[in-house]
Amino acid sequence: MSVTKVLVMDKYGPDFNVIARALRPYGVGLMWTESLSDGLSLLTRAKPALVLVGRNLPGLNDPTDLLGVIQAERLPTQVVVLDENPDFDESMDLVADGVFSVLASPVSMERLRRTAGRVLENHALFQTLLSSGAADHDPGDLYIYKNLAGHMEIRPLLEAFCATAMKISGAVGVEVRTMAELGDMSQVTVALGRTKRDVQREHNVDLAWLGRHLAAATLYFDEAAPSASLALRSFDELVFAGSLFLGQAVRFEETIKMASRDPLTGLCNRRVYLEAIAREYQQARRHNSPLSLLTLDLDHFKRINDTYGHQTGDEVLKWLAGVVKSVIRSGDLAARTGGEEFSIILPRTNLEQASVMAERLKQALAVSPMPPQLAAMRPTISQGLASLEHFLVNSSQDLIYWSDQAMYLAKREGRDTIRQIADLSMNSNYQDVQYVFQ
Ligand code: GH3
Ligand code: MG
Ligand code: MG
Repeated sequence: MSVTKVLVMDKYGPDFNVIARALRPYGVGLMWTESLSDGLSLLTRAKPALVLVGRNLPGLNDPTDLLGVIQAERLPTQVVVLDENPDFDESMDLVADGVFSVLASPVSMERLRRTAGRVLENHALFQTLLSSGAADHDPGDLYIYKNLAGHMEIRPLLEAFCATAMKISGAVGVEVRTMAELGDMSQVTVALGRTKRDVQREHNVDLAWLGRHLAAATLYFDEAAPSASLALRSFDELVFAGSLFLGQAVRFEETIKMASRDPLTGLCNRRVYLEAIAREYQQARRHNSPLSLLTLDLDHFKRINDTYGHQTGDEVLKWLAGVVKSVIRSGDLAARTGGEEFSIILPRTNLEQASVMAERLKQALAVSPMPPQLAAMRPTISQGLASLEHFLVNSSQDLIYWSDQAMYLAKREGRDTIRQIADLSMNSNYQDVQYVFQ
């Protein structure tokens, strides 16, 4: 097998050494050019697995121009853009258009190594699939497994892929099954086979074995149709289209996820939370359905940091987020809204039900296993609840305000406890009363 190649189209500069060193462990052939036209001809002749292209390469207006060439020539190539001044929105657009990733230049060795590693791993898998298909002349025996880091909203993407795949391959049916609601590193499996029975058999084995697939797509073919009618070429194209499509789709999902998640805990970030609470408020009012908001804050977290160090503090935050995830229902939205403050939006949940949920969280925190380095402690939280049904709540801002106030009341009244908006009006201090009448 020929050497896997990586093409760099960028001016020589400080990135050169970093790129060369980052790629060394992968044993790839590295080609470098500062000229767009040389780059384009190398691209089509050498068919590299990866192109690293400078955003400001003279003559290149739009990095997606390269994608046009790659698609037209059916090259097995992913594009990573190096940008001295990456703009977030533009980068998102590039990824949405099919660029694998955008990296800030000068590039960090670590990030480049990780990104290139993923491209090259996918590339190797893709080559294996292609060659196994070519070696076996009954295309019906070709099962294609493509495991990719996935996301809960992969289903519509899989469906779109399958629609295309059916057109290309002449499959008579498709089944997309979602097997788990959520999982950080869940997997997407695509299995293609000649008959429904074949593929299902294969899937069942698979399910029992992994039990953590996010989704599986099955394309099946008419059992009566002679297998010869499925040209091997169309299968190759299918794999090709599928691997690129899903690879990009998952990258896109991950980018969105990164922009919407807090990287430490994996929970939604404040931006997503604020959008969600405004949306849920409108919805709840429109449909006259209950809505509650739970705000919580770790007790004496500063002490934990001071005693055990910031890194251990971070582990506590992760542990807490894990417990929160384990007690919420699908449809609830948990977010990290501040340093050690979290909020949980509870749609279709009234104050009474929300109290039950808060109590459940408290209990879970009291008994959840702690990672070994946290074994010496048992952190607690103060929780505050507010609900739409309370007369003081007339906007999503009110929900946020009152659940916050209730949480502070819980702090004042001893911590490791739960307070709600109704407790506040009864116990209103001067500050709360002012707010009511302003
Ligand atoms: P209280 O019970 O009143 O909430 O006391 P507290 O110590 O938890 O509250 P305070 O607001 O005094 O301190 C919050 C601490 O949280 C201070 C800050 O260093 C820490 N913190 C905020 N964000 C992070 C983070 O991302 N990681 C770590 N380890 N600590 C953080
Ligand atoms: Mg705190
Ligand atoms: Mg705090």
